[in-house]
Amino acid sequence: MKKVIAIKQDNVPHCPVCNHTLDCHTGTNHNHLPKNNDISICINCISTLIYVVTKDCFDVRIPTEEEQKELDANEEIIRIKRIMMAVKSEK
Ligand SMILES: [Zn+2]
Repeated sequence: MKKVIAIKQDNVPHCPVCNHTLDCHTGTNHNHLPKNNDISICINCISTLIYVVTKDCFDVRIPTEEEQKELDANEEIIRIKRIMMAVKSEK
């Protein structure tokens, strides 16, 4: 079972698209803390984001135009976003 990891730091990241607080995360195929340039998907607006990780600080940024094209063509991300949208529509 995947473990949800709370991010404990002074500067809790917010989604740069919808400003939702991103205070925890879970991996799709791992339980490790996010690394720099790992991909994230905002649980609120389902935007694809990129982790910016420095020492003990987590943040996220909007992908560049080139990164976004790659992410939009990634089958796993498309599948995960479809599942998230389906779950959201059931609430
Ligand atoms: Zn968002």
